[in-house]
Amino acid sequence: MTLSLLGQHHPLASPTKQLKVLGRTAAYPPFETQLDRIGLLPLCATGITVFQINVGKLCNQTCRHCHVDAGPDRTERMSRETAEQCIQALAKTDIPTVDITGGAPELNPNFRWLVEQSRALGRHVMDRCNLSVLLLPSQADLAEFLALHRVEIVASLPYYRASQTDAQRGEGVFEKSVEALQRLNALGYGLPDSGLTLNLVCNPVGAFLPPKQEAITAQFRKELRVRHGIEFNHLYTITNMPINRFLEFLLESGNYEQYMERLANAFNPTAAAGVMCRYTISVGWEGTLYDCDFNQMLDLPVGYGAPTHIRDFDPGQLHHRRITMRNHCYGCTAGSGSSCGGAVA
Ligand code: SF4
Repeated sequence: MTLSLLGQHHPLASPTKQLKVLGRTAAYPPFETQLDRIGLLPLCATGITVFQINVGKLCNQTCRHCHVDAGPDRTERMSRETAEQCIQALAKTDIPTVDITGGAPELNPNFRWLVEQSRALGRHVMDRCNLSVLLLPSQADLAEFLALHRVEIVASLPYYRASQTDAQRGEGVFEKSVEALQRLNALGYGLPDSGLTLNLVCNPVGAFLPPKQEAITAQFRKELRVRHGIEFNHLYTITNMPINRFLEFLLESGNYEQYMERLANAFNPTAAAGVMCRYTISVGWEGTLYDCDFNQMLDLPVGYGAPTHIRDFDPGQLHHRRITMRNHCYGCTAGSGSSCGGAVA
């Protein structure tokens, strides 16, 4: 079993250590200075339309670029008590979308309960799915469960060929992903007029920025359809965040400075004005509130006087809170920005 950074006792398992690395800004200005230059500081939320719940770090895969440092050796998981606090907080609001992520969120025993409760409140639910989880014997009925509850699936697939996908996600993962996608298609996911949405998310396999979304979507559609008979609704491209295992990869491969410069040089004011933290609240497995899943991984809770735990959830105070930002935020503002509206396991 490949171990997480934490399992290896790697120094970068510490968010403090990661923030220290990210704080070195020899070749580019601090992110907030850049925001100040374009008149966006302080950056505040514009409301909350996405209630993201990260139910923990357990995953059946150990992907090389994982921004969560998830894996089979991680044991952190959201308890029923915290899951109940999430639903109580959600019920106080009219936030339309619940976005459940991990790790592999489906492996948390409270995942299905969260889906059912969110749907009972009339909310749209998204599942950030790694696809291979659908093939686990313990999850034999998962695809049917997701279809029954009309859950939107946001599935990670770095590339439409096995070699690139397996290099990032592990040997044999592409083949499993194809089988899972075919299983979802058989239930109607990704097919016109089924009402079952299947979106894919791809991210670069190396230390470069994602390609233009339109061009890569056409390629994915053609290759997956012709070679495997797979259909999907949309493809989103995301930039790899320079945190956790991708940060380790950048440092190990000597690409760190160059990658950060690349992100900073591609800074796009329009993308900065639309970053997902402006409309998302992210709940960690232990109930702490964050501006986004990336800040969660760096141990940076909501700041500037906003309540920091789900038990104290106060929409009035959180809707227009000031966002906590550091240099990893360059990953959200490069080029056309990361367009999937959230992090994928
Ligand atoms: S990393 Fe998080 S806080 Fe920073 S810009 Fe992206 S979404 Fe916002």
